[in-house]
Amino acid sequence: MPRLFATAPDALREIFGYDSFRGFQREAIEQVAGGGDAIVLMPTGGGKSLCYQIPALLREGTGIVISPLIALMADQVDAVAQVGIRAAYLNSTLTRAEQAAVEARYLAGDLDLLYLAPERLAVPATRDLLQRGRVALVAIDEAHCVSQWGHDFRPDYLGLAGLPEWFPGVPRIAVTATATAATRREIVERLHLGDALCLVASFDRPNIFYRVEPKARPADQIARFIATEHPGQAGVVYALARAGTERLATHLRSAGIDAVPYHAGLAAADRHAAQSRFLRQDGVVIVATIAFGMGIDKPDVRFVVHADLPKSIEGYYQETGRAGRDGEPSDAWMAYGLGDVVQLRSLIESGSGSAQHKHQQRLHLDAMLALCETTDCRRRQMLAYFGEDIAPCGHCDTCQQPPPTWDGTEAAQKLLSTVVRLDRERRQHFGVGQIIDILRGHTTERTTRFRHETLSTWGIGGDLTMPQWRGVARQLLARGDLAISDDGHDTLLVTDHGWEVLRGERSVALRVESAPSGKPRKTAKTKVAAGGVETPQEENLTSEEETLFEALRQWRRQEATEQQVPAYVVFHDATLRAIARAKPTSHEQLGLVSGVGARKLERYGDAVLGVVGGGG
Ligand code: ADP
Ligand code: ZN
Repeated sequence: MPRLFATAPDALREIFGYDSFRGFQREAIEQVAGGGDAIVLMPTGGGKSLCYQIPALLREGTGIVISPLIALMADQVDAVAQVGIRAAYLNSTLTRAEQAAVEARYLAGDLDLLYLAPERLAVPATRDLLQRGRVALVAIDEAHCVSQWGHDFRPDYLGLAGLPEWFPGVPRIAVTATATAATRREIVERLHLGDALCLVASFDRPNIFYRVEPKARPADQIARFIATEHPGQAGVVYALARAGTERLATHLRSAGIDAVPYHAGLAAADRHAAQSRFLRQDGVVIVATIAFGMGIDKPDVRFVVHADLPKSIEGYYQETGRAGRDGEPSDAWMAYGLGDVVQLRSLIESGSGSAQHKHQQRLHLDAMLALCETTDCRRRQMLAYFGEDIAPCGHCDTCQQPPPTWDGTEAAQKLLSTVVRLDRERRQHFGVGQIIDILRGHTTERTTRFRHETLSTWGIGGDLTMPQWRGVARQLLARGDLAISDDGHDTLLVTDHGWEVLRGERSVALRVESAPSGKPRKTAKTKVAAGGVETPQEENLTSEEETLFEALRQWRRQEATEQQVPAYVVFHDATLRAIARAKPTSHEQLGLVSGVGARKLERYGDAVLGVVGGGG
């Protein structure tokens, strides 16, 4: 069957069933289809894969896709096979015979896409094979893995510098969701992409609602958040420690949520099983350390929860970005408390890194803390961190409910002067709990033992509750008025900045500690797809449409189970919802729904129309 499409829009419509390009997909596709190189930086869910898939269909030969994760290649191939793209992968999981079959297909010109890990390309025999066939382009996925200073460095990516020499004249396209300018420079340099067209999208993810709540009893808060706002939906919960993921998963399961733990300490088979359940079944919640996530392109992750404070805005943004790749409304929800600040500050101070490294870590954490404590729009603050300037978004917690502040100068002075007095004793190490007990005049074994009721600040803070004082301490730590000593005991110190407050040279506006609240009512009238393109807000489904949507999901579940593929590769939720709304009665009408390409129409048309007609 001849595979060549005349134009990019033809391929977009015919293969993927989409009407228009997002962002600068079109520019990227034209550049690469025309034989030029490109670097594409788009946020997660922006639509990077089309930027190399469509040129591979427009050009003669096979598009080689370099991808870092062998474990996900089979799913990637399944997903593109659903739309009728002829794809395969070569990696160590194949038998000899399977491998020979893929090689034969490649040489026969029978593949649109061939997925490879970078180490595979380092093998001369692989290059020899590729040179005997026809390479349409080379796509370097997750190109930030080439950056030695980044968080996902893969030494094998450095070998990709040889591409222009191995495949002269073959266009290359590097894609990544990592935004910083430093990473971009490294990609250009190490992959010799100096002449490439560099396309940088806005990193805004307008469909994600960002929210940070005070941490009280996090396991209960998270269970409540999922049960009330995302029952039965897929999500990721990030926790700092391995043990934390297991505890939390157990707690969520006991609350009736289908949760599985995932961390690097699990046996490979258990990790694989957890990942595969999350990808294939509807509504699984994965409770993971940050070891989980890269390369996961499940489009219908409805929420990302942070049970603990992330170490940097870069990490937080990348992790929350895994929600809502399909452009549908999604939530990023974080619980944040005093314990997080103490723990992360103390991890840095007692860590073994160089002074320079600690300094870097402190800067990252300070920016993260400022984001948590901000009274300004959160999205605006995050994007400013990445060098983008936007107006307040109206679609985050602080925009919808600006947090009230109070003059906390006097409270701050009381707390800081207690810290100073304890510090003078220098005999013992006291944490935040002891300081609050002193302020509130609360007698304990420890206050009696150290005769703390004789301190002049004893009992001067009875006007605030324990949680309020913890809020004051947390905010002073976040503002840098208080610091954690590097003695390994989490002892508090007053910084130079804090002394200015003590001396009355600076006043302190603090956020009012609010009780955990539900999500503010949505007011946005437009739905914005990932990539920043506004689309008219579709009304919520009527109850009748909702019933049809559920029936379609039920059908999809069966279909996916039979084929042993993730449900979303059959159809996205967004497509099923659009079908429920359109209620098509013919193949022709069904083919007009976004996300229904020619191949899927042919394959699933009868079944879907059957469900819509009530006969399925
Ligand atoms: P990325 O790799 O940038 O994270 P993907 O390429 O996986 O993003 O695309 C994210 C989702 O958006 C996919 O489900 C894809 O099918 C969908 N998508 C991509 N381009 C378009 C488009 N032009 N119109 C509608 N949906 C699109
Ligand atoms: Zn906002």
